[in-house]
Amino acid sequence: MIDTKQTGTAASAPSFPNQVTGMYILARALKRIGIENVYGLVGIPITEAGYLIQGQGIRFVGFRHEQQAGMAAATEGYLTKKPGVLMTVSSLGFMNGLTATANATVNCYPMIQISGASDPRMVDMNMGTYEQLDQFNTAKSLVKAAFRCYTAKDIPSAVYRAYRAAVTGRPGGVYIDMTTPALGEVMDAAEAEKLFYEPVDMYSPVAPNQASVDRAVDLLASAKRPAILLGKGAAYAQVDDKIKTLIEKYSIPYLPMSMAKGLMPDDGPLSAISCRSTIMEQADVVMVIGARLNWMLSFGKGKWNPALKFIQLDVEPQEIDVNRPIAAPVVGDMGLSLDAILAGLASKKMAADPAWVTSLQAEAKEKNAKFAARLASNASASPMNHWTALSALKPLIESNPDLILINEGANTLDDTRDTVNMSLPRHRVDCATWAIMGMGMGSAIGAAVATGKSVVAIEGDSAFGFSGMDFSTACRFKLPLTVVIFNNGGIYNGIGKPMDATTDPAPTTLDINARYDKLGEAFGAQTYYVTTPSDLKAAFSEAVASKKTCLIDVQLAADSGKESGHIGYLNPATLQNITV
Ligand code: ADP
Ligand code: MG
Repeated sequence: MIDTKQTGTAASAPSFPNQVTGMYILARALKRIGIENVYGLVGIPITEAGYLIQGQGIRFVGFRHEQQAGMAAATEGYLTKKPGVLMTVSSLGFMNGLTATANATVNCYPMIQISGASDPRMVDMNMGTYEQLDQFNTAKSLVKAAFRCYTAKDIPSAVYRAYRAAVTGRPGGVYIDMTTPALGEVMDAAEAEKLFYEPVDMYSPVAPNQASVDRAVDLLASAKRPAILLGKGAAYAQVDDKIKTLIEKYSIPYLPMSMAKGLMPDDGPLSAISCRSTIMEQADVVMVIGARLNWMLSFGKGKWNPALKFIQLDVEPQEIDVNRPIAAPVVGDMGLSLDAILAGLASKKMAADPAWVTSLQAEAKEKNAKFAARLASNASASPMNHWTALSALKPLIESNPDLILINEGANTLDDTRDTVNMSLPRHRVDCATWAIMGMGMGSAIGAAVATGKSVVAIEGDSAFGFSGMDFSTACRFKLPLTVVIFNNGGIYNGIGKPMDATTDPAPTTLDINARYDKLGEAFGAQTYYVTTPSDLKAAFSEAVASKKTCLIDVQLAADSGKESGHIGYLNPATLQNITV
C-alpha cells in the first residue's frame, strides 16, 4: 500500500509503502494542533515539508524573504492569540527569520520558528557540512524556548511543547531546530501515528493572588485622579468587554499605547489620548494594563509625577518594579485579573474627584481642536506633506473601522498614529517595542491571511524598502491589501546634504522621484500615483473597495518630515536630555 497522504509532494519525492517521513510527521503535528497557516520560504532541506504541509490543508504562504514571513507569523500570533508558524531553511534563511522571531519575543507575540538544520553531529564536530551553523544555540538567547529534534520521534512533542511555550505566561517566540536526520527519517506509519496525543489545556490562565487584587482595588478606589494606561498586552489578551466595563462603570480616563489604540475608542468621552502629559504629571493612581514602563513611557520617570502610585496588571512577574517601584502589582492572566478586580470594586465607593474627568475632557477638546486646525491648514498644501496626505486619508479610514491598519516609518508612523483615530481592538499593528523598520509587508500579509479582513499599510518610503519585494507575495495570494507609500525621498526626509564634497547621496537620501507604483505593476497590482489630496482620496476609496492588492505611491515634498520623527531626542548628540 502506498500512503496517499504522502503524495502531492515536490518533484520526485519517494514514497514508501506503509511508511512516512519526519516531514510528514511534522505536517501532521501542525495540523493536529490546529495550525491553519504556515509562513515561510522553502529550499533545502524543507521543500517537501512545504508541500506536505499544504497537503494537510494548511495554507502555506510562500514569501520572498524569511524576515517578512516571520513578521507575518508574529502578526497572526498577536491578532489571534494562537502561535503563528514560520518555516525557514538552514543558515541564512534561519537567521533572516530569527530576526522576526526575536522581535516577536520582545513584543510578546506568540510564534514558532521551525527551521531546517544540518546534521547536528556534523555541526558539533565542525565537519563543514552543508550550511553548517549551530542554529539551536544561536537561537536560544533570542527566544522564549528552544527545542531540537534529533529524530522523527521528537517532532510531535516538540511541536506541541513549542505551542504551549509560545502562548503560556508571557507569550513569545519559540524555536524548533528541525534537523535533516529528523526530517528525512522514515518510520512505519502505524508507529508514527502513536506519537500523536491530545495535549490538554494548551493555554492555562493563572489567577492572581487575592491579596494583590485587594491591594489594587483599595488603591484604585482611593484615587482622586485615576487613569488607566492600556498596552498591547491588554489588546492581545482579548478581554475587551472587561476593560470597557472597568473604564465606563467607574469613569476612569484611559491612555492607549499605539497598538492598544481602538481597544477603547480614541475619540470616546473618557479618552485621554491627547492629554498624555497631564496624566503623567497630575494623575495620583495609574493602572497599567498590559504595558511596560520602558523607553516609550519614559521608564515611568521624567515627567511622571514622583508621588503617583502605579497598579500594574501583567502576566510576567519579572515585569514588576523594572524601572519604578510598583505600589500594587497584580500578576496573572489579564482576564482573571480583571474579573477579580471588577468583583472587588463592586462593593467599593470610588473617591475620584469628578472635576478630574471634566478637566481632562476640556483639555482634550482644546487639544483636538488645535490638532484639527493643524491638519486643516495643511489639507491642500502643494506639493503634499505628511499632514496633507493624512487629512485626506483620516476620514476614509475612520469611516471604515474594520480595516486593519499596518503602520511604519518615522514621521509616517508618528503622524499617522496621532492623526487616525481607531475604534476597534487589534486593528492597528506597528513597529512596536523595538521601533524597527521592516515589518510592513509581512505584518500586512499576516493580518490579511489570519483575519480575512481588508488591510491598509501606511508606509514611509524608507520603511517600505525593507520589505517591498514581499508586496509581490500579497499579489500572488490575491490579498485585500492597499499599500500607501508616503514618498518624501528619504529616511526622515529627502533633503539631507552630505557634509563632504562628495557627489554621493547623503546617508538619509533615497529617491524622491521613485515610482513605487511601477513596482506594483510588475506583479499585477492595481496601482496609483498621486500628487494631490483629491486624487489620493479617489485612489484610496477605489483601492479599498476593490478588495484587490493595490499600491498607492503618494508623492510628498522632499522637505516633509524631520529627523527621527518624534524621537529625535534619542540621537546621541541629544542623549543627555534623558537620564534614567
Ligand atoms: P506596549 O508596547 O503597548 O506598552 P508591551 O509589549 O510593552 O505593550 O507590554 C505588554 C505587556 O503585556 C507585557 O509585559 C506582557 O507580559 C503583558 N501581557 C501579554 N499578554 C498578557 C496576558 N494574556 N495577560 C496578562 N498580561 C499579558
Ligand atoms: Mg521617508
